[in-house]
Amino acid sequence: MNRAPYSPPDFQPGHVWLCGAGPGDPGLLTLHALHALQNADVVVYDALVSDGVLGLARAEATLEYAGKRGGKPSPKQADISLRLVQLARQGLRVLRLKGGDPFVFGRGGEEALSLVAAEVPFRIVPGVTAGIGGLAYAGIPVTHRDTNHAVTFITGHDATGDVAGVDWAALAKGAPVLVIYMAMKHLATIADRLIDGGKAGDTPVAIVSNAALPDQRVLETTLAKASADAEAAGMAPPCVVVVGAVARLRAGLDWLGALTEGRVLEADPLGLGRERRTG
Ligand code: SAH
Repeated sequence: MNRAPYSPPDFQPGHVWLCGAGPGDPGLLTLHALHALQNADVVVYDALVSDGVLGLARAEATLEYAGKRGGKPSPKQADISLRLVQLARQGLRVLRLKGGDPFVFGRGGEEALSLVAAEVPFRIVPGVTAGIGGLAYAGIPVTHRDTNHAVTFITGHDATGDVAGVDWAALAKGAPVLVIYMAMKHLATIADRLIDGGKAGDTPVAIVSNAALPDQRVLETTLAKASADAEAAGMAPPCVVVVGAVARLRAGLDWLGALTEGRVLEADPLGLGRERRTG
């Protein structure tokens, strides 16, 4: 076995590292992301990067915010890309830090293409995406042999700001599990379109807000009731929404709730393992 210790790539001056910060818990950072935080001269971060993660940046690093705050309009994507190029050309080690994974609904691809065009050398460091890791923190596996062999990741906003660009009817028929990012604004419309497309109104839904953060909340509901229940419960973004049978698995897998409340999880409350054990 190769027991070579982890040796991080050199973070060179004039380079940009485009890193995922995961959904919130700093423990979900990769070693490469931690190395970048400890070596960056400047950290350009998004709204969804948690304070716990930013706290790991070395004391001398400049933290530069590039996101929407206090209702002010967000900087244009082109301005952010330009800023990364500017900073790199100053010979700085630039850490571009994004919530979750930089290539999952995070515009990381656009920023990387701008770096290519400007001939700025860069590295991509994937992160734990909210639609997988955030759900795991709610005790929901995105796949399970008994429920689904496919999972579909969707954004509830398209580039024009609404959901018109998604073929919801096709997804209602062909996608057993949907994981929806940025779903809250259009949740009622999304649910209606899925039901119109043939998804049952009683399809299980879970909504996880502030996943992997100290104020994580989980709402279990159904497709027909999701929007009203979310409003009644005051579920505030960021939220990841999962539609499909996997949402029910939380009943037996809410490990975080069990740990924090000192409960013992009931073994297989849905009886999923039964057939396999006897069959
Ligand atoms: N690149 C990110 C997604 C950016 S889009 C990733 O891979 O996770 C922003 C959306 O991500 C939010 O609207 C929400 O749907 C989801 N999201 C990100 N962090 C989250 C968190 N901690 N809890 C719940 N949802 C989160």
